[in-house]
Amino acid sequence: MILPAAVGLTLAGSVVHGAFHRNSKVFGPVLGHLPTDEREVALTFDDGPNPDATPRILDTLGELGVRATFFILGSHAERWPEIVHRTVSEGHQLGNHGYFHRKLHLKSPFYVKRDLELGKRAIERAAGRSPRFFRAPHGFRSPWVSVIAGSMGERTIGWSLGVWDSDQPGVETIVDRTMEGVRPGSIVLLHDGDGYNADGNRMQTAAALPRIINGLRDRGYEFVTLPSQ
Ligand SMILES: [Zn+2]
Repeated sequence: MILPAAVGLTLAGSVVHGAFHRNSKVFGPVLGHLPTDEREVALTFDDGPNPDATPRILDTLGELGVRATFFILGSHAERWPEIVHRTVSEGHQLGNHGYFHRKLHLKSPFYVKRDLELGKRAIERAAGRSPRFFRAPHGFRSPWVSVIAGSMGERTIGWSLGVWDSDQPGVETIVDRTMEGVRPGSIVLLHDGDGYNADGNRMQTAAALPRIINGLRDRGYEFVTLPSQ
């Protein structure tokens, strides 16, 4: 019986795709790209706050008049709540990135709900407001991850362009990869923190940011935040 086997494989393929591809809609709605063909780009930062990189990134965004979205890790927010408070008071958007930074695609609904609730609570305590967005660690989801995020009022976000700045490839490389990869409507993933080391170094990303912003503006790009609906 070839047919059922083929159907089974296709189904398994869809499930794998849904779990592993950050923008796959198999496991619920996710925004992986801005709904525009205009030269608009959204900057997003994951895994913070970080005591060194986040304040520097906020300085740059403030000086250059750009608003961005920060997908905050609950465990880091508890350590540096004042940085989360500064982030929101300077007009940036907040997203929930969970509490423990575990890959969620193989976790039970109970685990996922607890991780997201702990993350949300830590952000609320630090920022005085709720995150409106959610991004799964590494983009890995299961059928219930986005449903749980949605039930907490958080829209699931993917990304259009990742430049692997978390590997610390050098400031030049981070700038070049971003400039080469951005298209109209891109959601760019950068990292102001390290999901596995609260004190990890993200200063290359911080140093690359002014050149990324100025370079994209020279090409006619405008910086926007994420749509909540
Ligand atoms: Zn992360």
